[in-house]
Amino acid sequence: MAQNMIARVEPRREKLRRLMRKTEVEALLVTNRSNVTYLTGFTGEDSYLLVTRDKELLITDSRFATQLAEECPGLDLEVRTQKLQMIDALHRVIKGVKPKRLGVEAASMTVALKESLEKKLARVEFISTNGLVEQLREIKDRDEIAAIRRAVLHAERAFKVIRASLRLEQTELQVATELEYQIRGFGGAGCGFPSIVAVGPRAALPHAPPGQQLIGDSNFVLIDWGARSPLYTSDLTRVLVTGKISPKLERIYGVVLKAQLAAIAAIRPGVRACDVDDAARSVIDKAGYGRQFGHGTGHGIGLDIHETPRLSTLLERPLKAGMVITVEPGIYLPGWGGVRIEDDVLVTRDGHEVLSSLEKQLENCVVA
Ligand code: ZN
Ligand code: ZN
Repeated sequence: MAQNMIARVEPRREKLRRLMRKTEVEALLVTNRSNVTYLTGFTGEDSYLLVTRDKELLITDSRFATQLAEECPGLDLEVRTQKLQMIDALHRVIKGVKPKRLGVEAASMTVALKESLEKKLARVEFISTNGLVEQLREIKDRDEIAAIRRAVLHAERAFKVIRASLRLEQTELQVATELEYQIRGFGGAGCGFPSIVAVGPRAALPHAPPGQQLIGDSNFVLIDWGARSPLYTSDLTRVLVTGKISPKLERIYGVVLKAQLAAIAAIRPGVRACDVDDAARSVIDKAGYGRQFGHGTGHGIGLDIHETPRLSTLLERPLKAGMVITVEPGIYLPGWGGVRIEDDVLVTRDGHEVLSSLEKQLENCVVA
């Protein structure tokens, strides 16, 4: 696995250099942890990567010696001991490279770190960059797609166990805990993000934290979960019906499913993200629930649970082959509950492939 990562991270760094050449920065200090992992294969924390036009160097500490040897042998390192603070190690490394203009990641570098570095490096101009590495991460390579497929598989296997063993006297929290346990049992590293298990009216909160509500307190429960396997995450949502299907649930579920299928059908390279969003949104608008669908239709997944591109009315950029995005329209009615259906979709060269495969017709969501 580690060896595998090595083989593939070098082309990523080359792509980053090509991007950097189009900007004015001579070196980029990568402080976002997922970006560091993406560019090096190193999965530890508290480590920053300095990428120059012709080399790279990871500023890390001695706790990670063994892990670094396994995950990224051959990578140039500045390993600090506890005697040297990160800020001083950074100062030393950057001074050695002497960039006139140093790119920093505006979304992850703290103001405190930037200010103290600027004080030490008076001759270096700090340039805020945004999304340089994230933009590369939008297009998944073969390893990444395989990793996401595994994450989908682990999430689905865990869900099937939960579904088959669901009891009305379980709490939301117990179901969420069981999900995590099952994901690990199937080989995942854990949940990709804190699961949402929301019974009835609780499901009106798009991001309800699971609590002591009993599954049997309503006739349906919304579950939004994902597996991390081991670095990449999946992100799925299903509604399970634990009682009678009410006419209202049937109507709303039908609208959301129709919207989700319309958005998935619209996915192919060249289509603007906002048009995929609109495919779902217009179905929900037409049914009269437009104001009850407040969030975007989906988002990229990968090392992080929420990546670019976002499927929203605001993003006019076209989709590209290799992107993996969620499609998750929803309708939320305070006091009654909410319905969201979410799948993970790969943009392929000639269209799309839905990576997740759990049934989603309403009659298939009824648990015995
Ligand atoms: Zn989700
Ligand atoms: Zn999502």
